[in-house]
Amino acid sequence: MSEIITTEAIVLSKLKYGDTSKIVTLYTKDFGKLSAIVKGGRNSKSNIGAIVDPMNHIQIVLYKKDTREIQLISSADLINHFRHVKEEFERLEYSQAILELLKKLTVEHEVNLRLFKGVVRILNLLDTSNELPVITFGRFFIFFLSELGYEIQLEKCCVCGKANLENIELSYNFDLGILCNVCRKNHLESISISSELFKYMVCLKTNKKIETLSNGTAEKAVVFMERYLKFHIPDFKGIQSIQLLNNKY
Ligand SMILES: [Zn+2]
Repeated sequence: MSEIITTEAIVLSKLKYGDTSKIVTLYTKDFGKLSAIVKGGRNSKSNIGAIVDPMNHIQIVLYKKDTREIQLISSADLINHFRHVKEEFERLEYSQAILELLKKLTVEHEVNLRLFKGVVRILNLLDTSNELPVITFGRFFIFFLSELGYEIQLEKCCVCGKANLENIELSYNFDLGILCNVCRKNHLESISISSELFKYMVCLKTNKKIETLSNGTAEKAVVFMERYLKFHIPDFKGIQSIQLLNNKY
């Protein structure tokens, strides 16, 4: 039995299918990640084909059949196509990184309304705010890690419980968490966290405004979170969309 459903979605990627169709991966509001076909979607006259395209925030009508792996899109309306994101390289690069993380790391059909709303909010910010794209992406990344179940722990030293961690030398052990200036000496298999990087990540996590930032800190935070994710998910080989970043930091 198939049912007709309406939901919102972010288009994550597309693949050519047959002569004129395309298959897209969607992150939907009500059904999580799923694949769907747009018949005739590569025809230049196809309005629905232009709407169901990567990065767009859309509203769709689907013929959904649980026994079928690929659902059929019957109509689509555009909610936002993030015009500024597509016009500017840095905004585009980090937006693509978001789509990539969703595609690689979310589980098919697993619904997460908070994550969906967070993605829409961040894409809107990347499109319209004047914040550096790398910072806005950092906000997404730290939020995404906790939604995946790998929250970065910054509140207190994971060994002794010391809570006031500002302005001291810190380390992070991917298994255990943050280590204070004393405990870090007994856990050599951890990486140093500068006081600035620590404060910056606390701001990202608590969604505070970033006032000042020295060169490279925002990029270092992204690299740190990427390493952390690779440690917890060995199959994850890093973010392809922002590979240039890795060579620099
Ligand atoms: Zn400690």
